[in-house]
Amino acid sequence: MSESIALIEELVNASGVSGYEAEVREVIKRHLEPLTEISIDNLGSIIAKKAGAISEPRIMIAGHMDEIGLMVSSISKEGFIMFQPLGGWWDQVMLAQRVVVKGGKGDVPGVIGSKPPHLLAPEERKKVVEMREMFIDIGASSNEDVKEMGIKPGDPIVVDSPLTRMKKENMLMGKAMDDRVGCAVFIEVIKRLKDIEHPNTVFGVGTVQEEVGLRGAKTSAAVINPDVAIAAEVSIAGDTPGVRENDAQARLGKGPAIVVLDGSMIPNTKLRDLIVDTAEQHEIPYQFQAGTRGGTDAGRIHLHSTGVPSIVIGVPTRYIHSHVAVIDHNDFENTVKLMVEVIKKLDGEIAKSLKP
Ligand SMILES: [Zn+2]
Repeated sequence: MSESIALIEELVNASGVSGYEAEVREVIKRHLEPLTEISIDNLGSIIAKKAGAISEPRIMIAGHMDEIGLMVSSISKEGFIMFQPLGGWWDQVMLAQRVVVKGGKGDVPGVIGSKPPHLLAPEERKKVVEMREMFIDIGASSNEDVKEMGIKPGDPIVVDSPLTRMKKENMLMGKAMDDRVGCAVFIEVIKRLKDIEHPNTVFGVGTVQEEVGLRGAKTSAAVINPDVAIAAEVSIAGDTPGVRENDAQARLGKGPAIVVLDGSMIPNTKLRDLIVDTAEQHEIPYQFQAGTRGGTDAGRIHLHSTGVPSIVIGVPTRYIHSHVAVIDHNDFENTVKLMVEVIKKLDGEIAKSLKP
C-alpha cells in the first residue's frame, strides 16, 4: 500500500467530531513531531512549524481535524439515545447508519433508528424523515442500562465507516474525507519538504471546530500571524448523475481544484495565478471550482488582523457530509505535489507582491 494511502486511512479512521478532535491530533503529532516544532492552541488546534531557510514569509496550510458527527443530548427512559447534530447533516443520509458513541467507559456501537416505514401512513412515507424524529439504538433496555455503559449527555457520536479501497485501488471511500484528506495533505507536504531548502517557514495546522463555524481557524491564525494561507480541503465533485456542470465543476481524477469562489471568501487572485503558473510549469493537472455556498477555514484566516492573502485548494470528493465519501488518490498526490512546488518558490518578495 502506498504510504500516503496508509496515512489517509489512519486519519479517516480516527474519531474526531467537532470539539472532540484529540484522536486526530495524536495522529498528526505522531507523524510530524520528528520533523517540526509542535504547539497546540487553547481550543485544541495543532500547529506544526517546519522551519525553512528563513523565518518569513510565514505560510499557513490549514486542514480541519473535525468531521461532522452527533452528540448525546438526552437518554429516554427506554434506553434510546436522543442526539443533536455537530455540523451540517443532510437528514436523508442518516437513517439506518451505524454509529459509535464515545462513552466514558469506551466505544458503544449503535444504529440510527426511526419509526418503521411499515407503520407510516402512505402520505407520511413519501416524506423525508427529519433528524429530530430519529434516535440511536445501542441495544439498551433502560436509562440505567445506558448509564451503566458509561454514556452521558455531551458524549460525542461518530459515524462508523472505515476507509475502504475500491476495486480500482486509487479510488478510496470512507467517512471524514472532509477534511482528514486536508490533514493528510499538510502532513505529506511537510514530510516531502524534509530535505528541501524552502525560502519561508511553513505551518501545518490541524484546526478544530471548522464544521460548526470555522472556530479553530481564528485562534490558530492568531498564534501564527501568517503572511500567506492555503486551506487544504475537499472540493465538491460535480461528476455524478444529475449535477449541472456550472454548479460544481470539479471532477475526480482531474487534479486539485483551485477554489476561486465560495460563500466565505473571494481568494487572492495573484495567489491563484502563482498556483496555476506553478502547476503548468511542473505539468501537474489542476481544475477550478467556483460556487457561492459553503465556506472553509480560509474564510476566517483571510480576515485575520489586517488581512491575509489566502486561497483554498481542494481534493475533489463525492458525497461529503455523509457516511461514505469517495476520492481519487491520484488527486491527493497531485495536490501534495502542487503545494510543495508552490512552497519551494514562495519567498518574501513573492509574498509581498500578493498584497494589493
Ligand atoms: Zn471541510
